[in-house]
Amino acid sequence: MANDLEYKPKSCWEAYNSAGDRENMNHLAERYIEFISTCKTEWETITWALERLKEAGVTHNPEKGTYCRTLKGKTLFAAKRGSEPLDKGLRLIAAHADTPRLDFKQRPLYEEIGMGQAKTHYYGGIRKHQWMARALALHGLVAREDGGFFTFVLGEDPADPVFTIADLLPHLAQKQSEKPLKDAFEAEKMNIILGHQPLDAPEDQSKAETTPCGKKEEGENTPKDPVKTHILKLLNERFSIREEDLQSSEIHAVPAGAARRVGLDNAMIGGYGQDDRICVFLAIEAMVALVQAPCAHTQVIILWDKEEIGSEGATGAKSRFMEYCVHDLMAAWSPEAVFGDVMQNTRALSADVNAALDPDYPDVHERLNSALLGYGPAMSKFTGHRGKYESSDATAQYVAFIRNVLNREAIPWQLVEMGRVDNGGGGTVAMHLANYGMDVIDMGPSVLSMHSPFELTSVADLYATHKAFSAFLKS
Ligand code: MN
Ligand code: MN
Repeated sequence: MANDLEYKPKSCWEAYNSAGDRENMNHLAERYIEFISTCKTEWETITWALERLKEAGVTHNPEKGTYCRTLKGKTLFAAKRGSEPLDKGLRLIAAHADTPRLDFKQRPLYEEIGMGQAKTHYYGGIRKHQWMARALALHGLVAREDGGFFTFVLGEDPADPVFTIADLLPHLAQKQSEKPLKDAFEAEKMNIILGHQPLDAPEDQSKAETTPCGKKEEGENTPKDPVKTHILKLLNERFSIREEDLQSSEIHAVPAGAARRVGLDNAMIGGYGQDDRICVFLAIEAMVALVQAPCAHTQVIILWDKEEIGSEGATGAKSRFMEYCVHDLMAAWSPEAVFGDVMQNTRALSADVNAALDPDYPDVHERLNSALLGYGPAMSKFTGHRGKYESSDATAQYVAFIRNVLNREAIPWQLVEMGRVDNGGGGTVAMHLANYGMDVIDMGPSVLSMHSPFELTSVADLYATHKAFSAFLKS
């Protein structure tokens, strides 16, 4: 006999076992795979989100009941007006569009032993060894002095070349393999191989430089770094740029290729940048699906940049951008509202992924309070580390409110902590929202291999989290 006093997490596979649910689940997964396969930088993600919102009729003009504003192409705020005045609070979902990667240094190009390479500075928390000896694509933005800029992608189309960082062969890695992992891989050795063919000297010039003894002399037409010079020539032919233009650029090296289904059952998705683009995708999907439906509270989606490096900067969660947008909404929809009331009465989701219990490393987790893949969106009342430092802590009342929102629609969920106490930890944007006095809790699918080039999520969690975000916006 079932003990109905006891709490047990619910599996999404049991909750969503109808043919209709399974079909919708697969349909959502296919669209999600297409999204993460193409949107690999924050600006590509914001461009996609803007396009989706525009198609759904979300405009920049608040007079029409919707609002959308971006900043520097890297952060986005979108709103749909509710029937209640703004000082009754918003229903806000915040996710982040930036992901760990390798950024080109501002002066990246050099040549070493006949190899043309690019120096990098990693962005966010990466495990360096995961980025070696694999195909990388370049997603870049180059700004010109005249104020214009262009973007490019190299290495995603099967016809494109890819790029890579060479790793040491095991035969000669004896000394390296004895070092602690944190010392074994040096950031300054994470240099991306761009080419190795030297620039051909012009026919007549090479003849002129050949002495009677047949020995070639250095002529003024033989560049000092012929491979680097060749790379510069190819870049110039393709993009009409010179080396100095790279100093005003943002070039990101990311894992090349599309996301894939994983497993004989196709039940998982493997791909780069799922933290936190899975929440970006689901938040935008939820807003777009509800855009025609009347709602009580004004619904807001905010997509931030720079979460992976501490939410700093103009486009990060610590910036004033969200405030400017809320003031715009107040001016248009509730001129009498007080800003503090709007913010304090807001209920928010910090939509971010959580760590799934790893079957090979269960010892870094605490089983009772860990997220299980396939058991629905994982929620954290608090994040932080070592005695709950640097976390906002949702109230018990707010956790109860969220439970009710999800249970009403029989959506599986799990309340979790990331890892064992004193075993590391991490933060999200929740605390920056909590600073306004609003209620906020972390919620998102759980992920295996988080921050790696091939993060793993469950198709069932994708589906359940989609339902959870919709239920929350409607609450
Ligand atoms: Mn995240
Ligand atoms: Mn992260």
